[in-house]
Order: sequence, then structure tokens, then C-alpha cells
Amino acid sequence: MNEIAPHVPAAAAENFRSEVKPIWCPGCGHYGVLAALTRAFIALGRPSHEIAVVSGIGCSSRLPAYLTSYGFHGVHGRALPFATGLKVARPELEVVAIGGDGDGFSIGGNHFLHACRRNVDMAYVVMDNEVYGMTKGQPSPTTEPDWDSPMAPGGTGFRPFDPLGVALAAGAGFVARGFSGDPNGVARLIVEAIRFEGFAFVEVLSPCVTFRPEEKEWKHAVHPLEAGPASDPAAAHALVVHHPFGTGVFYRGTPQPMAKHAAPSADLAAIERDFVR
Ligand code: SF4
Ligand code: MG
Repeated sequence: MNEIAPHVPAAAAENFRSEVKPIWCPGCGHYGVLAALTRAFIALGRPSHEIAVVSGIGCSSRLPAYLTSYGFHGVHGRALPFATGLKVARPELEVVAIGGDGDGFSIGGNHFLHACRRNVDMAYVVMDNEVYGMTKGQPSPTTEPDWDSPMAPGGTGFRPFDPLGVALAAGAGFVARGFSGDPNGVARLIVEAIRFEGFAFVEVLSPCVTFRPEEKEWKHAVHPLEAGPASDPAAAHALVVHHPFGTGVFYRGTPQPMAKHAAPSADLAAIERDFVR
């Protein structure tokens, strides 16, 4: 097993970076997640053509364009169903779904529940900045109720979505949280998530410096979990409740091999004949 080096050589990381330059705002947390992903892929030791990164829509969902792996920048909230189909059809690929809190927990919330339940063997990395960045700062499902903004004066008053708690309740086998300011720590979590046999969820606290500049202070709040991972979902949720800025693996269940499916047919002529019949 290749460990995450404290400083992965830039040349090695560049092998996974495409020529497309990120258009994220200077200082956006997502740069740290991009760095973490490339470091994780280096540690896994698999070439870029054996990896597929699938996203929905939003600032964070631009990420597949910045990698040399296979990528799909899809439809809002639909990264998980596409990634599920891809993994079932091409189980030999490492499939990583990525996105943001708005994409994944609002319009994509239903898919999140069922991806956890179906236990498809993939990692899902959500860059959570508690806001819709691309659409100019609307409150998202994870925004705190009293966040005052031009889009929601006085706050929404809504109880925020609990991503780790929902993942635990819906049956995810691996549940973790990282911080984009610690790319090596996030890379380690992503490697563990990809190696876990079953659906693995990693929330990454990733500040939106433009619409939520106060999130720059998260670097003072995050801390590694002292306990964990728990082997029981209820105990893991107690850790989530008591450590809203805790990082590390909260829950690791028994690996569950993915349900077996019939081998897909790649014979387009046969598919067309069946369709016409
Ligand atoms: Fe990042 Fe926010 Fe800028 Fe989007 S709007 S690129 S999330 S800082
Ligand atoms: Mg967001």
C-alpha cells in the first residue's frame, strides 16, 4: 500500500491534472479537494484510465474537467444515479462521485438515500460549504437557520440537513469527514473510502470564500476525532452530534460485497435488435 506522502511530488500529481485551468475563485476550498483527489489516486497506484469521476452541477461539480481520468459533468443532483449505472456496467473501474451540498442533498437527496441503501461499491465525496456558490449565495440544505444573507434576510429558520447522520441512517458502510485545508488528510480519507468494499461517503468541509467568507475561520474549528471509527451507526451519530467540526472516519461497518448483476452487453447491434423487436 502506498501511503500519502506529506508532499506528493508535483510532477506525480500533474499526471492526473488536465490542461483545463480551474475557474474557482482564488482561495476557494475546492482547490484543496482537487489536490487531495490527485494525491489519493497516486496512492492508489491506478492509472487515470481506470478511474472515472462523476459529478452533477455546481462550483464543485466542475472538478472532473480538471482531471485526466474519465469524467462526466452531468445534470443537477444526478451524479449518483449516473455513477451507479457506470459502476454496475463497468465494475473494474474505480468510480468516484463528487459534488456539493446543494447538488447532493437537495435535488440529489433522494439519490443519496438510495445510493447508501443499495451499497454500490463507490466513493461519494461532497464538498460542503453550506451554500449554493454557483447561483450566488442561496442558502443550501446544510446552511444554518440564522445565516443572514441578501437571498434570505434574517435566515431561513430551517433545521439544517445532517449529511453524516442521514448517511448512517440510510445504511452507508463508511462515513467520514475531512477539511479542504488539509489535503493530505482528505486524501487519506478518500483512499480509505475507495478501498472500502461498499458505498463510502466522505463529507469535506470546503469554504466558499466569496459568499461565506466567515468560513475561512473553519481552520480554527476543525480537529481530528479522538475516538472512532465507531462500529455501530448509533455510536457514530453520537460522535457526529458532539463533534460538528471533527474530522476522520466516524463509522466503518462490515464491508458488504456489491450485489451481483448480469454482465452487461456491449453489443450495440444486439441491443438495437432487441429494442426494435
Ligand atoms: Fe468556490 Fe464559492 Fe467561488 Fe464557487 S463561489 S468557486 S464555491 S468560492
Ligand atoms: Mg455548496
